[in-house]
Amino acid sequence: MRNRIFRSICLVTFIVLAISLVFILGGSYQYSTGGQEKQLKNQLELVAKGAQTAGPDYFKSLNVEDIRVTWIKADGTVAFDTQSDAESMENHLERPEIQQAIKEGYGESSRTSSTMLRKQIYCAQRLPDGSIVRVSTTQNTLLNLLLGVIQPIVVAIVIILLIAFLIASNVSKKIVEPINNVNLDDPESTKTYTELKPLLSRLTAQQTQLKKDKEELKKTEQIRQEFTANVSHELKTPLHAISGYAELIKSGLAAEADIKPFAEKIYDESVRLNQVVEDVIDLSKLDAGALNLSGEETDLYWIAENAVQSLEGFSQEKGVKLNLTGEHAVFNGTTNLLYSIVYNLCDNAIKYNHEGGEVSVNVMNEENDVVLTVTDTGIGIPEEHLDRIFERFYRVDKSHSKEVGGTGLGLSIVKHAVALQKGEIKVSSQPGIGTSFAVTFPKA
Ligand code: ADP
Repeated sequence: MRNRIFRSICLVTFIVLAISLVFILGGSYQYSTGGQEKQLKNQLELVAKGAQTAGPDYFKSLNVEDIRVTWIKADGTVAFDTQSDAESMENHLERPEIQQAIKEGYGESSRTSSTMLRKQIYCAQRLPDGSIVRVSTTQNTLLNLLLGVIQPIVVAIVIILLIAFLIASNVSKKIVEPINNVNLDDPESTKTYTELKPLLSRLTAQQTQLKKDKEELKKTEQIRQEFTANVSHELKTPLHAISGYAELIKSGLAAEADIKPFAEKIYDESVRLNQVVEDVIDLSKLDAGALNLSGEETDLYWIAENAVQSLEGFSQEKGVKLNLTGEHAVFNGTTNLLYSIVYNLCDNAIKYNHEGGEVSVNVMNEENDVVLTVTDTGIGIPEEHLDRIFERFYRVDKSHSKEVGGTGLGLSIVKHAVALQKGEIKVSSQPGIGTSFAVTFPKA
C-alpha cells in the first residue's frame, strides 16, 4: 500500500511537471515568434513606403542590421540586397512569397534550415511599379529553443523529482501509519481513520464470536470427557459385581444355599447394565441426530396411552396408581421422541413414589400448544437439586436411584428430546409431597 501511494504521488508530480513544461515552452515560443513576425511586417511597410517615395536611391541609403531587405524587379531579377551582391543572385520569380505578392499584392513564406535549428521568414509586398520589396529575418525553431533551455530544464526536473520523492515517501508513510498501528488484539480501541471503523468493529465482533466458540468447544469437549468417564464407571460397577459373584460360584467357594441369591444378583446387575447401555445408546442417537425427525401427524394422547399401558405392570408392582386424563391433541411431532418423553417421566414418577401413591398424566390442548403434565405424590426433589436433575448421570440420592433401577440418564434423554421437538420443560416439586413436570409443545 505504501509503495502504491508513493508511486501514485511520483507519477502525478511527473505528469503535472511534463504538462506544465509543454505549455510553458510552447507558450513562450509562440509569444516570441508572433512578436517577431509582427515586427517584420511593420518593417516591410516602412521599407515599401520609403521605396515608393524615394525610389531606388532609398535602398542605397538603407542601413539595417537584424533584417535582410531585398528589392526584386518585376521579372524576378534582384536589383538590391542588404546582405549579398545583387548581380550574383539568381532569379527570384519562383519564390513562393514573390509569387503570392505578384498575385495578391502581399506574400509571405518561411523556410527551415537543413539543421532544423533555424527558420528564415519572408514578407514581400508589390510596389505600384510592379517591383517587389521583401524583408526577412531568422527565427530560432522550437527545437533550437529546446536545445537552449534543455540543461536548466533537466536540472529543474531532477530537483523537483527529488523533492517529490522525499514528500511522497513522507506522505505515504504518514498515510499508512494509522493502519499499521491498529492493535489487532483490541481493534476498536485504536484511533484510526473513520473509514476503517466498520472494518475494525467487525473484526472485534468476529474475535468475540471466535472466543465464544472456543469456550463452547472447550465446554463441550469437557462434557464429553466427563460423560465417557461416567459411562465407564456406570458399566464397571455392575460388571464387577457380576464377575465377583460368578467367580465365587465358579471356584466352588459359594455355599449351595448362596448360589440362587448370587444368581439373582448377577441377573439384577445385568439388567442394570442393559439399562445403562440402552440409555447411552438412546442419548448418542439423540446427540448424533440419527433419529428420523421428519414430523408427522401425532396424537400425544394416544402416545401417552401406549406409554401408560406399558408401565401398568411396573406401577402395580410398586403399588402406585397410574391415571391418564385429558383429550386428543394432534400436532406435528416425532412419535419415538414423544414416547420416550412420556415413558421416562412416568417411569420416574412411579420409581420415586411411595406405595399407595398416585401418578396423574394429563394431555391438554392450548391455543398454540399441547401441554403434557406428569404429577406424582412421590418423595419430591429438594429445591437445590432442581437445576441439576437434567444433567447426565445426576441423581439426587445415588444409592436410592440405583436401588430403584435408575441410570441417571432418563431426564437428560427427556430434556434432549423436548429440545428436538422445540418444546419446553418445567419442573416443580415439594419434598415429601410430590413432583410435577409440565412439557409444552408448540403446535405449529
Ligand atoms: P434416574 O435414572 O436416576 O431416574 P433421571 O435422569 O431420570 O435418572 O433422574 C435424575 C434424578 O432426578 C433421579 O435420580 C431422581 O433423584 C430425581 N427424580 C427424577 N424424577 C423424579 C420424580 N418424579 N420424583 C422425585 N425425584 C425424581
